[in-house]
Amino acid sequence: MEKMNQIIYELKRTLGDDAVIVGEKIGDRVVSYIDHNPMTAKAILLPRSTEEIVAALKICQTHAQPLVPQGGRTNLARSSFTEASDIALSLERMNAIEDVDVTNRTITVQAGATLQQVQEAANQHNLFFPLDMGSRGSCTIGGNIATNAGGPRVLRYGSMRNLVLGLEAVLPDGTVISSLNKMLKNNTGYDLKQLFIGSEGTLGIVSRAVLRLWEKPQSIITVLVDVASFAQVIQFLRQAQQHLGSVLSSFEVMKRNYFQTIIQAANIRSPLPVEPAYYVLLETMGLDRELDFEYVGKLLDESLEQGLITYPVVAQTKAQRDELWFIRDNSEVIGNQYDPVFSFDVSLPISSMEKWLAQLEQNLDEAFEDAHCFMFGHVGDCNLHLMICGDSLTPADKQAVDDMVYGLVVSFGGSVSAEHGIGLDKKHILPMSRNEPELWLMHQLKGLLDPKNILNPGKVLG
Ligand SMILES: Cc1cc2nc3c(=O)[nH]c(=O)nc-3n(C[C@H](O)[C@H](O)[C@H](O)COP(=O)(O)OP(=O)(O)OC[C@H]3O[C@@H](n4cnc5c(N)ncnc54)[C@H](O)[C@@H]3O)c2cc1C
Repeated sequence: MEKMNQIIYELKRTLGDDAVIVGEKIGDRVVSYIDHNPMTAKAILLPRSTEEIVAALKICQTHAQPLVPQGGRTNLARSSFTEASDIALSLERMNAIEDVDVTNRTITVQAGATLQQVQEAANQHNLFFPLDMGSRGSCTIGGNIATNAGGPRVLRYGSMRNLVLGLEAVLPDGTVISSLNKMLKNNTGYDLKQLFIGSEGTLGIVSRAVLRLWEKPQSIITVLVDVASFAQVIQFLRQAQQHLGSVLSSFEVMKRNYFQTIIQAANIRSPLPVEPAYYVLLETMGLDRELDFEYVGKLLDESLEQGLITYPVVAQTKAQRDELWFIRDNSEVIGNQYDPVFSFDVSLPISSMEKWLAQLEQNLDEAFEDAHCFMFGHVGDCNLHLMICGDSLTPADKQAVDDMVYGLVVSFGGSVSAEHGIGLDKKHILPMSRNEPELWLMHQLKGLLDPKNILNPGKVLG
């Protein structure tokens, strides 16, 4: 029997016909949430339990068959992309919420549960899972762990790495590392879960996880302000941190061209009567509404007095709050208006951002006739997103723009990926942000855990 037929035969015999999708049905699925092309692969596996993941991996390991773990396929670095010769393993059937533990403030879930399911389950118990992002209805906890997902609340709650207390993962040879710890403190040797968080499915398949929950915020205050320069954005951030402490949950910045393009396309009346250089969307999450309003009021008064801001707008209703976030979250509008759009997710020390951005804009102006640099991002956690486009830019300019952006990021002490990961798209520039000994150790770990290179091969390290 031909090798692939033999593998499919063994997988079907072990997992059952309904757990192994082959043939035309594969093309019914799309490559990713952003790339709507039909997926190609030899098969898609739909295991129902950790034991079935083990069985699938053992078969693939025996035949040195590449296997690509998949959650909601919403990643933005082509990290779950499959070649026609790959087998995909989707966690979609493993989406149970196993336990919400109110006393320990933890939730135990299977890795295929969507982020939204987890948020809702926590909410039902008057608790709160703080990770959030536009893809919440599709992305899965396994994918969030494998990408160390971020989002707008990292400033307050940390990225996924800070929200995982324990996990269970299956190694390429089928060994189950069950580390379902529920405690905040547990210093017993190497913290093995960290190996899998952010490893983009290259070291093991996450099957279950214990996540940390918080008290549900009783007060959410959302404010939009105008700021005249990037230097003042940073000054305002510092002031917000001093006045609001840990209730400050988001500090999002949008450049004027970004904000104006989104509101014009969506036909929204601007919430502010001015068109400043930068808009800051600030949010607090606390437990005492009166107290939080007092803190926010003091921050705004002081910033007004100092001339840092001139028109603070405080959302009065959930609809107003949603509208402000809609503007922040709708970057795809720019994608619809320009072709090509070169998108970037980078991080920089907050102290370097102003000079970096000014230098980048100057370099773009010198190199291209009409390059627009749309900037928005979670500035409070060092993460900037850029969309660079313009009528005269063509796909042939991608390399030059990439070199310009990443070259400057490195020279200012930043990182070529803030929250989207490396996947296929950035593996060639990983050495810009990681030194040789670091890369050597990554290769050693990959070789140790996956000596046959079957798990998501070609991603991250190549
Ligand atoms: C509209 C939109 C908004 C977004 N906003 C943000 C944002 O604010 N912040 C942010 O960080 N990201 C954001 N993203 C990117 C994306 O949603 C995240 O990267 C998310 O964590 C991916 O989860 P997923 O389940 O879709 O994983 P997939 O895309 O399916 O997979 C991502 C990677 O994880 C691996 N993987 C998946 N499941 C497992 C598993 N169980 N075990 C091991 N490996 C696994 C895959 O092989 C792949 O390498 C956004 C995407 C969209 C489309």
